[in-house]
Amino acid sequence: MQAIQGIYDNGILKLDKKAPATKSRVIVLFTEDGTRKKMPKDEALKILYKHAGSIKGDIDFEKNGYLHSGAKSDIITSSKKTAVMKMNRSKEQKSRRRTPWDKKGERSAVQEFLYQHYKNQYEARHPGLTETGETAVINAYEPEECPHCGGEKYRRNGYTMNGVQRYKCSGCGQTFTPVTKTIFEGHKISISEWMEYSMNIFRYVSINADSWNNRNAFTTSRYWLEKLFLVLESYQSELQLSGKVWLDETFYSVRSEDIARTEEGNKLRGLSVNQMCIGVACDESCTVCVFEGYGKPSQKKTYESFKSHIAVGSTLIHDNEKAHKKLVSELQLNSIAYDSNEIKRLIDRDNPLNRVNRIHFLLKSFLHAHTSFDRNKIQGYLNLFSFVMNPPSDHLEKLEILLDFAFRIPKTLRYRDFFADITSSSTPLCK
Ligand SMILES: [Zn+2]
Repeated sequence: MQAIQGIYDNGILKLDKKAPATKSRVIVLFTEDGTRKKMPKDEALKILYKHAGSIKGDIDFEKNGYLHSGAKSDIITSSKKTAVMKMNRSKEQKSRRRTPWDKKGERSAVQEFLYQHYKNQYEARHPGLTETGETAVINAYEPEECPHCGGEKYRRNGYTMNGVQRYKCSGCGQTFTPVTKTIFEGHKISISEWMEYSMNIFRYVSINADSWNNRNAFTTSRYWLEKLFLVLESYQSELQLSGKVWLDETFYSVRSEDIARTEEGNKLRGLSVNQMCIGVACDESCTVCVFEGYGKPSQKKTYESFKSHIAVGSTLIHDNEKAHKKLVSELQLNSIAYDSNEIKRLIDRDNPLNRVNRIHFLLKSFLHAHTSFDRNKIQGYLNLFSFVMNPPSDHLEKLEILLDFAFRIPKTLRYRDFFADITSSSTPLCK
């Protein structure tokens, strides 16, 4: 066995072969003989995950990089110590899996009950990789090419600690597994957790509530949402509506702190730059949502947004919005236009635009569930919304598709890069 744990406490790192992993704040890995032979990071991580038990959630390797593999002498430098200490302090304040009685030797009957209940729930929600049958799912995906160099000649090359199939490329000589360069690389959260997370999102649960349910850090939920966006990034690009197509725009306000005002400090009136224009089109079965920009849409914007999503010669049912003109003529659409002032007075059942209005309503509920979301991510939310709206309606079938996308469209989002991105951006992460 190559793992030795050390306990990091009050700035002192004690190394101990018998150090109980469950009490360790920081775990340091060495090769068995203590030589300078470096262990590949993903190998070290897997060993750690196997031995670290329930504390793994508190260690944020990607962000803090204090997983050390190699010889004793390069364990921890003083600047890293400080970083680790800071990190531990903030974790203690914030960690959602902590209870007030974690360190207490004796707990009252009530405290013991709450403590056990909470811990059990946490553990049930954060199962280890091998217990959930994930290895089988991962191994079912055979890579089509080497994720490092794109070469198609590779061979099987044993298994990782968790039983995941490893491959070795004949071209570049590097090894990989089915999760290499996919969103599951690094296993910050297991696939089952991600599936549960996605299910909650499908049910319009706000990410904040979800983070509490699963006792994950809020930022972890954000990170997983970002991964969901990545997987669905090109989902809508293949969608094309035909037959009867309904089209209408809806508007969603920018965040209150971003509202542009007149020199006198008043809000701008009407469909100003403070309104995000979202074009929604649907046919009998499918929905496409595109962010068209701020304020009133132009003919060019509408055309650019929907030209690839509506089949030539379809019937367009819409209000008499001028912005649709170019779209109608270029795609030779059979236009059925209604006066928006007149149809406003109709009850839903009689309103010819009821179908698209209903989608506007659902879209707004969906966006409201993510209040104060980063408006720069609007298209990500719209792709997700379309995915939720469109067939198949069964959530498990949706998950199946999502998993397939995730493995087939290799896209990685490293935790470190995600944090670099959100900390450098001027918009606050959350409210
Ligand atoms: Zn290769």
